[in-house]
Amino acid sequence: MSRVPLSPTEPRLAPRPFEAPPGLPTVYAPALVMTKILRMLRWIDDLPGQKLPAWGTDYRPQLNLWGAVLGFQKSPRGRWVVQCETCRQYSIRLMLQANGTWGCMHCTRLPSKSRLWIYFLAELVFAYRIQLYGGQQINRRRATLARMLAAKAGQARKVRDLWLLAVGAPLLTPPPAPVRCVRHPAFIGNPRGQLWAALAPLLVGAWVDSLLHPVAFRTRFGAA
Ligand SMILES: [Zn+2]
Repeated sequence: MSRVPLSPTEPRLAPRPFEAPPGLPTVYAPALVMTKILRMLRWIDDLPGQKLPAWGTDYRPQLNLWGAVLGFQKSPRGRWVVQCETCRQYSIRLMLQANGTWGCMHCTRLPSKSRLWIYFLAELVFAYRIQLYGGQQINRRRATLARMLAAKAGQARKVRDLWLLAVGAPLLTPPPAPVRCVRHPAFIGNPRGQLWAALAPLLVGAWVDSLLHPVAFRTRFGAA
């Protein structure tokens, strides 16, 4: 059996990390992490031949489990929150501080009138960095961003407005989704084997350990 050659025009197997526009803070949003995990669970379940008995269509128990692994809690309003490393309060968003630790919105309050804009843009960068490119939540954010930029473009007078336009515009186009594997034509349409069935449930854990956990994410992107 010969290998299927990759042409130079095909996407690379290992995507380059998403390069954030300059000047945005590095943030961490637990709600987006849980969306990513949910999408991965569905992706694993939808694979042909991949119907493990324990993996039903109701993902809440699994999401709660992964939330606990990540150190998240549910707020009284039902939102996923994560602990601030500075004040120990739980927050819907963390921001990387100059000393390299995560701080909540109270500990890292941005002294700017454009605070909500900056959080909005920085969370979109976060989504792209955890390879969350699509879905209702992200598409809605991109549509909001497009509307906001269009409104801003007509009345941009200050340097800050121009900066927001320059930083926001590239985020309207998501980076190309990575190709997870290239299958030999002989395997297309065939169910995956026992090895994949054994490995698939481990996939989410590997992502949590290497990218999605606040510590792992800081290790990868903290210096950016
Ligand atoms: Zn705090």
